[in-house]
Amino acid sequence: MDSNEFRHWSVKAAEWGVDYRSGLRDRPVRPDVEPGSILAALAASPPEEAEPMEDIFADFEATIVPGMTNWQHPRFFAYFPANSAPVSVVAEHLVSSIAAQCMLWQTSPAATELETRMVDWMRQALGLPDGFTGVIQDSASQATLAAVLTMRERALAWQGNKAGLAGQPRLRIYSSDQVHTSIDRAIWVSGIGEDNLVRIPTAGSNRAMVTEALERAVAEDRAAGFLPAGIVASVGGTGVGGTDEIAAVARIAERENLYLHVDAAWAGSAMICPEFRHYWEGVGSADSIVFNPHKWLGAKFDCSIHLIRDPDSLVRTLAIRPDFLKTHGRDGIINYSEWSVPLGRRFRALKLWFLLRAHGLEGLRAMIRNHVSWSRRLAEKLGNEPDFEITSAPMLSLFSFRHVPTGLVDVDGHNLDLVERINRDGRIYLTQTRLDGRAVIRFQVGQFESTEADVDRAFDVIAELARS
Ligand SMILES: *Cc1c(COP(=O)(O)O)cnc(C)c1O
Repeated sequence: MDSNEFRHWSVKAAEWGVDYRSGLRDRPVRPDVEPGSILAALAASPPEEAEPMEDIFADFEATIVPGMTNWQHPRFFAYFPANSAPVSVVAEHLVSSIAAQCMLWQTSPAATELETRMVDWMRQALGLPDGFTGVIQDSASQATLAAVLTMRERALAWQGNKAGLAGQPRLRIYSSDQVHTSIDRAIWVSGIGEDNLVRIPTAGSNRAMVTEALERAVAEDRAAGFLPAGIVASVGGTGVGGTDEIAAVARIAERENLYLHVDAAWAGSAMICPEFRHYWEGVGSADSIVFNPHKWLGAKFDCSIHLIRDPDSLVRTLAIRPDFLKTHGRDGIINYSEWSVPLGRRFRALKLWFLLRAHGLEGLRAMIRNHVSWSRRLAEKLGNEPDFEITSAPMLSLFSFRHVPTGLVDVDGHNLDLVERINRDGRIYLTQTRLDGRAVIRFQVGQFESTEADVDRAFDVIAELARS
């Protein structure tokens, strides 16, 4: 592809993206396709000869696009959002063209220093004390893995990486039963083992871990010869927004000398609004916090902010310095690859810089406040219908409900079937979860371009399909 063609197809791709985004309301949110149908439409073997770009682009439009779930759709109410604000798409075009590796300061000085500045902008935006520094990871899963590895090394006096875990005391990590599955995987991958992840039961409407049970578990483990290493606390769990009492958990962590990592992957974005910070009161005492601007805030995936109070223990856990990575003669520089598991790193800070400047914190706060109030209004409206039950009250913009018409025996089956019928219909997209052993339907509003009318439409679709 020469420069002229590169220009032609870049412009075409950019224009296609604009049309795609502006036409989303007319597309189904989730495509109604059979498994395997797209695979069958693709050539079984790679081409030997070059093909014209016209053909490639035409196949993209004909075969791929209709088979995509449209995550930027204004009526995507499933999972959590993965917002990609138009301005962050523009930044990503630029990043793709530069295509730098951002592992060392010298491989990308501006990317490194912009990353340092953006992490600090986010720290200030969330109202966190200035003791935190941090790094932009690809995902919350990576940040949590890094935190669990740090817990492990800190507890083992930095011997785990070298000596392995055999012959070491058995470590224990604590979390509630509401945390994301990325915690389980961090425990597996770190070699600590699922048997040593102690699930503390939760209680109350916020489904917080029972702190007395946490204290008891730690004491019993110590008495039994285990080595308690850390706690992973949750603010805004994926099921129904389970949120621990961070201040109380932090006091226990401090007293017991346990590392405290807070997973606020989704809910963290809302903390740019001071009125929501009660959800994580005491978070300033955590050792690390993760939140994803690539979820609610609008920075295109991947953009996960990993805030850390003591980066030295993280670097001590993860830094490898072979000769070719040594940067001589410069003090005070940061090599961010020493703060994460992968070596290669994308330039992730640019989209955040563009996003924060183009919208301002006030613009982003207004979006989040709207989502929260629309969600509360919808929960109220559904709750007022005799055949609907709100099964968990809104945590920020997330709540759950079920359809419970009188006389129905298999309520679980009916609701699971309802989610599937809603998603096949395509006008809105929802997901289900299990709550206290029952099947319930989740609803969250968080799309960058959702309007109140989109949320009203959701009510109409849910009521229509539930009663049909
Ligand atoms: C989405 C989510 C994660 C995982 O985030 P990734 O960035 O996809 O790894 C972890 N925890 C919570 C609470 C989440 O909502």
